[in-house]
Amino acid sequence: MKPELILTVEDVNKNFDGFKAITNLNFYLEQGELRVIIGPNGAGKSTFFDLLTGRTKPDTGKIEFGRRIDLTAMNEYEINRLGVGRKFQTPSVYVDHTVYENLLLSLKGPRGVFSTLFRRTTAAHRQRIDALLELIRLGPKRDWRAGQLAHGEKQWLEIGMLLAQEPQVLLVDEPAAGMTDEETHRTGELLISLAGQHSLIVIEHDMTFVKQIAEGRKVTVLHQGSILCEGRFEEVQANPEVREVYLGRGHKDR
Ligand code: ADP
Ligand code: MG
Repeated sequence: MKPELILTVEDVNKNFDGFKAITNLNFYLEQGELRVIIGPNGAGKSTFFDLLTGRTKPDTGKIEFGRRIDLTAMNEYEINRLGVGRKFQTPSVYVDHTVYENLLLSLKGPRGVFSTLFRRTTAAHRQRIDALLELIRLGPKRDWRAGQLAHGEKQWLEIGMLLAQEPQVLLVDEPAAGMTDEETHRTGELLISLAGQHSLIVIEHDMTFVKQIAEGRKVTVLHQGSILCEGRFEEVQANPEVREVYLGRGHKDR
């Protein structure tokens, strides 16, 4: 039986004042899949996330969620509510609130800092937060102010905040940027552990990290707004065109 698609993207084009940021893009994500997108700077990776999340609208083409829910007809807020969560490169946590409070504020349900902090937290809420704390390994720092966390820990907290909203699809843009090798490795373990329960797309540059999370999985290489190559990590890595794109340009301007 064929696994169901959670995202279907067909013939998508996006121009910015005549500049073709995305050209004839076709992309399919299976339910529960963890997909890594690589590609040099300016390839259109973040623009692709903008298109999926409704931040940018495509000029042409189809973007569908699950069983034919048309994302191009929805705004950013609606797409997020539907179950598409995005993590940007720079963490945006509430620095003056504790780790615990940050997660509490992000829980699915009524929003708003004021109402959430003064709403009675139920046992179910606390259990959910405890589970998230364990997953992101910040249990021992639950009462730290988020502003006191190391860069990598802030990133994990933000992933936890994203998960608190129970998204079906997680879009993660360059999570390893600025992390130590150990933090990067832990992040990889975390993302791998989320696959299956969630569908994930991870944009990444760091090839050690890509190898860790993508080995044995499908990888998409974006180049000048189009798919240069897509296939198992091992094949993609050996592809001469991919090597050319990376060795020729991608690494220098990082
Ligand atoms: P990547 O994330 O792969 O590095 P981006 O998707 O950020 O690449 O950018 C792809 C190209 O599209 C770049 O040349 C960028 O300048 C351009 N671009 C992205 N967003 C906009 C925008 N809102 N307006 C104009 N140009 C944009
Ligand atoms: Mg980018």
